[in-house]
Formats: sequence, structure tokens, C-alpha cells
Amino acid sequence: MTSRSDRKSYSGLSDIGRVRTHNEDAVLIDPPLFAVADGLGGHDAGEVASEVAVQALRESAPRRADAKALGRAIRTANRSVIQAERDGLGGEGMGTTLTAALVEGSFIAVAHVGDSRAYLYHDGILERITQDHSLVGDMIRQGTLTEEEARFHPNRSVITRALGSDPNMLADTYEVDAEPGDLLLLCSDGLTGMLDDAHVADILGSYRDSAVITRVLVDAANAAGGHDNVSVVVVEIEGETRESSALPRRHRPWVGALVWLFAAVALVATGSFGLMQYARSKAYLVAEHGTVSLYRGVPGDFAGLKLSWVEEETTIPISALDAVTAARLTQSVQVENVADGRDLLDEMRSIVGTTTPDTSMTPEPVETP
Ligand code: MG
Repeated sequence: MTSRSDRKSYSGLSDIGRVRTHNEDAVLIDPPLFAVADGLGGHDAGEVASEVAVQALRESAPRRADAKALGRAIRTANRSVIQAERDGLGGEGMGTTLTAALVEGSFIAVAHVGDSRAYLYHDGILERITQDHSLVGDMIRQGTLTEEEARFHPNRSVITRALGSDPNMLADTYEVDAEPGDLLLLCSDGLTGMLDDAHVADILGSYRDSAVITRVLVDAANAAGGHDNVSVVVVEIEGETRESSALPRRHRPWVGALVWLFAAVALVATGSFGLMQYARSKAYLVAEHGTVSLYRGVPGDFAGLKLSWVEEETTIPISALDAVTAARLTQSVQVENVADGRDLLDEMRSIVGTTTPDTSMTPEPVETP
């Protein structure tokens, strides 16, 4: 690469926007580590949560582009936000999104929770790396809402996973083989709520300097209304490609604890046919007779309708699990799907040391009465 002392290959900018009175977003620029966090909970809460999260991430993140290690650092940051609230910092119910990237040459590790996003701009095409953990994100994936509708949906800011509440929260992780000259973009929803992807791509393709790009992106979001805090990080990818990996390689999260209220809203919103489809795509774990069971569907009932089907009854004793997990299982622990549920069961077995062949698996889900 040619040396370019006049400009940096990365830049970050966070702006209050034109409507909010506080900036609850936080940006982390600590090469090779970059992150954007969007705090939740209002003044004196959201801004504390996002700041605690990025500082904890900075301290615990790996220095290599290892997505799983970066995901673990986000879990550490999650516990730091929970602990901060216990210590009386910030406010009750505070939380934050966190989208982090580690750039090593042209290899990028991403870990992510919430609705801030990571994108790769490659050859004039803007590719979204992350999937939003949001109600409208779920509805788009279910096919009941378009991207454009989502940007104006009244519940567009409802997120289904965040740091600050669930000690068992996991981050989604991704590894991306980029090419020199590609641009990595991290941003809060104050950017993507104001500008569609085509507009963002247009800006990324129009300038060469990362500092100019971040400025133009923020100005464009504000010109479009600036309804929210807007934060962007742009990193120009340099260096050599790694040969061994595909683009993008996604590691499936094995637990995505869905806040039940949000799922209920989604069920109503998707209508009764969508409701059944939605339920069948989901899964949850629950304590039954002192052991853990895996169900396809969603817990509870809806106007007398049960939407759950037993998948697996295990011999994993609740009493052998940690107190927090045990307590959550007496309610239920929602996961994205049955495969994630099985992964979580495997994890529990390895913790508990259960070696008993304990499956009474039903090949086809059976409807409960
Ligand atoms: Mg926001």
C-alpha cells in the first residue's frame, strides 16, 4: 500500500441529530477494534449503558480478527452493563446495542447485538453483514414487511436483543473476507432509519476519504430529518486477503433470548396464519419435573390456542444449573429455533456433565392439547 500520511484509513463520528436532547450513542475507534453502540433507556441511562459497553469491550476484546472471541467480549460487556446498573450507575432498565468489528488485514470479524449494523461496501455493492435484532427485522425475515415499510413502522425501534438485561445473552458473530479498497461501515439506526441502503451506497461510492465519508453520512441523516442520534464508523480495508474463508461466513447464535412481549406483538402483527408459521419457526427451553425440555413454538397460549410442540425431554437436572439459568428456565428461555435449542442443551450437558443418552425425541412435532 502507498503511504498516505495525509489521511487515515478509518474514521468515526457520532452526532446528536436534530431532534434528541442527548446523544446516547457511543463510538469506539481503537484499531484494529471498532464499534458502535446505541444506548437505550433515556437520558442518564442510555448514554451510560453505551459508554460502559464500549469501554468493557475495549478491555476484553481480542486483538485478532477472531469473531467468537469478539462475541465473548460482547458477553463480557453485557455483564458490565448489568453490573453497572446494580452499582447504581445509569438508570433502571438501561441497555444498549453493540456492533463491533476487528479488522486484520482484509479479514473482518464482526460481533453484534441489537439494531445497529455492519455493512461491507465492495465493488459498488453495499452488503449488509448483520441482521437486526428487532421486531421489524423479524417481520422482514418472515416476509410480512418490506425494508421500506420497516423504516416507517411505528414499532421500528423495538429491539429484541440488547446488552443490559439478560446475563445469558449471546452475540451473533460473522467473519468476512474483504478485499483491499472495500469499506466497512458500522452505524446506529439513526443513519439507517433516515437513509435507505441505496443512498448510503451512493455516498460510500462518491468519496475516497473515510473522514469525509463519515461527515457526509451524518450530514445526510440530519438533512433527512435527524430524528435520532447518528453514529458511523468507516474503515477502508487494506492488506492481504486470507484464503481460507468464505464471504460472509455466519456463525449461528445458539441462544437469542427473545423478549416475550415483543414476540407477542409480532404474533399479533403477523396475523393468524403468520402466527402459526412464526410459532413453528421458534423454540424454547423450560423446566419440567425438575429437568430441561425443549419445545418447538412459543410458550403460553393465545386465545386458548397452544402454539408449542415437544421436541425433546432431557435428563438435565435443573438443580445442577446455575441459579440464574435455573430461575429463567422455570419461566422459559426462548431461542431462535430448534437447532439453537439443541445447541443450548449440548452446552448445558457439557456444564452439568450429563452423559446419559437422554433423548425421547419425537421425529415430527406433536401438537399439545
Ligand atoms: Mg438509535
